[in-house]
Amino acid sequence: MSKEPLILDGKLVSDDIKAKLAVKVQELKEKGVTPCLATILVGEDPASATYVRMKGNACERLGIISKKVVLDESTTTEELMAAIQELNEDPNVHGILLQHPVPHHIDERAAFDTIRIEKDVDGVTTLGFSQNAFGFAEYPSCTPAAILAIMDYYNLPIEGKHAVIVGRSPILGKPVSMMLLNRNATVTICHSRTKDLANIVSQADIVVAAVGKPNFIQGNWIKPGAVVLDAGYNKGNIGDCDYEACAEAASAITPVPAGVGPVTIATLLKHTVESAERTVQV
Ligand code: NAP
Repeated sequence: MSKEPLILDGKLVSDDIKAKLAVKVQELKEKGVTPCLATILVGEDPASATYVRMKGNACERLGIISKKVVLDESTTTEELMAAIQELNEDPNVHGILLQHPVPHHIDERAAFDTIRIEKDVDGVTTLGFSQNAFGFAEYPSCTPAAILAIMDYYNLPIEGKHAVIVGRSPILGKPVSMMLLNRNATVTICHSRTKDLANIVSQADIVVAAVGKPNFIQGNWIKPGAVVLDAGYNKGNIGDCDYEACAEAASAITPVPAGVGPVTIATLLKHTVESAERTVQV
């Protein structure tokens, strides 16, 4: 396609979400409630530490309290679950984010599922995932919700479209597939054992890249006019799509950085504020 694609600007979408949130945070403060997101970092993975710091900074810029819990690499599953339980019971904490991945010796699923559903603002619990699959989650997983928020901001149609999702992780590929299915897309989910991936991707009206491999999705896989959403975030600020080549065929595409990433963080803040609002309503 010779026409320039529409660049789906994640900064624009996240600024729009955050401007609306700033008003809500102020209203909550006037009612004596300051939204608070607790983040838990276990171990010393530098990328995880950066993500947690970015989320904390984003909270603080918006007047949301960022409560940081940092646990040693040697923390056991039981100790992590006890730390989460304490945050569950703290009425001043409205959202809990356990940074993935945790060290290998920890049962991550058990830890995630310790988070009380009312505080599962990152949509990581089994219950939150199921509610999302049914289409009524309060807090769907943040990156999938961000992908949908970008599509809605730019009025990109979903119903009846063929969406091909590359990746099936519980925090990204699977929940975004469910959300697109719930919006009446026809969904194909691909993974590492998928055969003839290029041919399947080339049939998509909507491509979601959630692989974790830099420049993995090739430009000549993209059907002319398709919408490309790149959730990938690899070392060196590189997405999962070969951006320049995919942009030649796509009608709309998210860049990396400044695509899905900032909207994911804005979505996390949005869920935290909504959780705080619910405590005022009851
Ligand atoms: P993940 O848990 O490693 O999952 C990767 C998925 O890709 C798996 O389902 C895997 O298939 C599939 N895959 C791997 N190699 C493949 C291949 N050759 N062909 C087809 N599928 C293949 O990763 P994730 O946590 O979902 O993250 C994916 C990407 O999104 C990463 O770049 C991550 O950094 C990024 N991310 C970004 C944000 C954000 O805020 N922007 C948030 C979360 C994640 P199998 O299931 O068969 O192994």
